[in-house]
Amino acid sequence: MAALWLAAASPASAYELLRVHHDPCARQDRHLFWSPPTVAVSVDPLPDAFKGLVAEAWDVWNQSVPGFRFNAGNGPACTRDGVAAVSIAAQACDLGAFGDALAITRSVWKDSGQLVDADVTFRSDTFVLGDADTFRQVAMHELGHVLGLDHSDACGASGAGTLMRSVLTPPLLVAPQADDVSGAQFIYPSASNGGGDGTVPPGANSCAIGPPSGVGLWPLAAIPPLLFWRRLRRGN
Ligand SMILES: [Zn+2]
Repeated sequence: MAALWLAAASPASAYELLRVHHDPCARQDRHLFWSPPTVAVSVDPLPDAFKGLVAEAWDVWNQSVPGFRFNAGNGPACTRDGVAAVSIAAQACDLGAFGDALAITRSVWKDSGQLVDADVTFRSDTFVLGDADTFRQVAMHELGHVLGLDHSDACGASGAGTLMRSVLTPPLLVAPQADDVSGAQFIYPSASNGGGDGTVPPGANSCAIGPPSGVGLWPLAAIPPLLFWRRLRRGN
């Protein structure tokens, strides 16, 4: 009976949220959000061939999540200017080596969870740059981090079939999937509420949630490498 009850109570969603103290599984912690619920994205640092693909990537998020808006902006790579700049480089913003990651989003936030900057770097030696559809998918994944999502498989779920899975596997995805959209809509439930307030109501995301305890001043923090998409399959 206990097993049946656990099965029935298992969460319908796998999505996980970026949180103030870096641990997506600490569901009592505040999650990260933009307020107002929008961020400008700069493709200025990118070669022309990639600019339109990033715009397509944010457009499908905009179509999927009415409460949040990516807008076109301008700005250089890796600058803490509140603009999400996308670039290609040998090293990620503030973080150095990529390890086995294909791309890394570096976010900066306040102790309230309010995001103040996020920048995306694709590594310059990845096969992703040679395939437009794969590049667009990875851009969509990184923009999911920009808006506040962590990896769907960060806390035990498989994340299979979701955009926010930490591992890039076939088939290619052309849009955020239902679970990804649920996560984003949890952070930004509507276009009129001004975004999340950093707290999670009881019962959401499978756990009873309360306000964080003992959280004092927390400095603006650089996020550690978020994306460890390993190259399981190489494109032709
Ligand atoms: Zn990632």
